[in-house]
Amino acid sequence: MPFDFSGRKLSLLAELRRDGINDERVLKAVESIPRELFVPATFQDRAYENIPLPIGRAQTISQPFIVALMTQMLQVEDKHCVLEIGTGSGYQAAVLSRLCRRVFTLERHQTLLQEAQKRFGALRIHNITSRFGDGTKGWPEAAPYDRIIVTAAAPELPLRLVAQLRDGGVMIAPVGPERRDQRLVRLRRNGDGHDVEELGEVRFVPLVRGLPRERASQKEE
Ligand code: SAH
Repeated sequence: MPFDFSGRKLSLLAELRRDGINDERVLKAVESIPRELFVPATFQDRAYENIPLPIGRAQTISQPFIVALMTQMLQVEDKHCVLEIGTGSGYQAAVLSRLCRRVFTLERHQTLLQEAQKRFGALRIHNITSRFGDGTKGWPEAAPYDRIIVTAAAPELPLRLVAQLRDGGVMIAPVGPERRDQRLVRLRRNGDGHDVEELGEVRFVPLVRGLPRERASQKEE
């Protein structure tokens, strides 16, 4: 019989509430996505600990609190189209898929993308469109987006993506150098300009420009 994660999930949800996640839609979305399916089998028993976990290719699935916080700060509505940069495990995209009409998500590691796509299929999530590509360029063909969420840290606010944001739209991104002094930033597009606010300290893997050279012989991490 598969392990019953429901007790651990309830404790995690209580922890998220205690730490300031009070948007019921967000809590419900987190509750509805089985995080144990988004982590490697060896870490499954830790899936409901409030910590990031390795997913291969030196990348991580974010800490549940950070996923919930970014989702809450993004102020996603039912009719929204959301662009995510950095599919990773697919977990953040899956949470968002419960809250909006459509999620577009980009990943620069082919293997991670394929695993995420399998998870979306297994969970019968049909409103996520994902593709391989360099997210620093965004996904202009499907623009404009109501919301953009960047889940890897850029050294500077990725202003190039603002052009793909609808007027009045919101982008959330961690900004800062590799592995230190990063801040979560929320930007709201305002015609040709934008307003920016800082939302606190975070720690993300870096947003990397360009695509990796993935040879067939390259070892899986
Ligand atoms: N949202 C993910 C978190 C993944 S970590 C989740 O819920 O699991 C950040 C991801 O961003 C990594 O998978 C990394 O490969 C990806 N990434 C980094 N730079 C990128 C770029 N320029 N374009 C697309 N993806 C990128």
